[in-house]
Formats: sequence, C-alpha cells, structure tokens
Amino acid sequence: MADILYTYGKQVYVNLTNKCTCSCSFCIRNHIDTVGDAETLWHKKDPTLAEVKEAMDSFDFTGCTELVYCGYGEPTCALDTLLESARYAKDTYHLKIRVNTNGLANLYHNTDIIPRLAKTVDSLSISLNAPTEEKYNLITRPQFDGAFHALLNFAREAQQCIETVQLSVVDVLPQEDIEDCRRLAEKIGVPLRVRKFT
Ligand code: SF4
Repeated sequence: MADILYTYGKQVYVNLTNKCTCSCSFCIRNHIDTVGDAETLWHKKDPTLAEVKEAMDSFDFTGCTELVYCGYGEPTCALDTLLESARYAKDTYHLKIRVNTNGLANLYHNTDIIPRLAKTVDSLSISLNAPTEEKYNLITRPQFDGAFHALLNFAREAQQCIETVQLSVVDVLPQEDIEDCRRLAEKIGVPLRVRKFT
C-alpha cells in the first residue's frame, strides 16, 4: 500500500488518491514514484477514511501545525474522505488544513463544493499553471471543456469564504507568462504564489 501520510521538508502531507482530472505535462508522477520520505505514492486502491485515520493515529504530529492534502492525484476527487479526515485531524490533533488543488472540483462533482470545503479547510492553494485558456489546456490537458474559466471562478468564490486562498504557478514557466499570471490573479483579486519546481 502506498504511503498515506508523508513528509517533505518540514511539512506533513496526505496522499488520498491517484485520481486526477488533469494530465499535466510537468506532473512529477510522470517521472518518479515518490516524494520526500514516502516509499511510493501510488495506491493500489485509494485509502478508506478508516485507513487515513489510522495513518494519522500512527503519526507523530509533534511540532506540526498544518496538514497539507497534496499527493499523487487531486485530493478533491476523494472529497468525502478529505473532509472527514480533515475534520478528524483538526479535532484530534488541532491542525490547520491546507488543500493543494487543481481547482476543477466543481466540474468533477458537478456541484458547488466550496461551502463544504469552507467548513473545514483553512487554506487553499489552486494551481493556475498558465495565463490563458489556450496555454492552460496545452499544459494541464484537463478532462473538461471550460476548465480554465471554471478554476478562475472556483478561486474567486473560494476567496469569499475560506481564510487563505492563493493561486500558484511553477517557476518553470517563461517569465512573461508568470507576469501575465500575476496580472490575471490581480484582476480576479486572488494572490499569486510562484512555486519552485521540485
Ligand atoms: S493536477 Fe497535479 S496531480 Fe494532476 S496531473 Fe496536474 S500536477 Fe499531476
């Protein structure tokens, strides 16, 4: 079974699912099977809520203040397990919850999931990846039509009810695209973080 919890740097991550609604050209899953101290992040089958709670109970959270949902897949594809395990982590281990997401969950679930996220999630990092729909589709190869605009709407709406929301791009993009992403993020009123590619 793949690692459910793993650490990378000082951060603890939850690897909930290998499902994803994108197929990004730069996705780390295309190159290696693991990150940080995990042995493998490929699940034979996605973990159940009980298995995620068990992994949390076996983990030493001493000194840890935040748990990040980000693994080899899109965490919101396992929405019920995400929300219930995050609630457990908050109540039992007093952790803040961050979710790193591609921002396409409303398309995947065909409903607005932001009110559900807002009850438990403290921080949301949404991958913007590109400044235009055309470039976004080339880089992330999403399952859905209209994905780029859906993610912008997702970010805009999440910003209204979740404590910290940011868009992110990876620093492998051409500088010109990063600047265009910055302008786009400013336009919709959501901060942009430029992440180092790891
Ligand atoms: S959204 Fe994340 S997990 Fe999915 S393909 Fe892109 S980089 Fe990989």
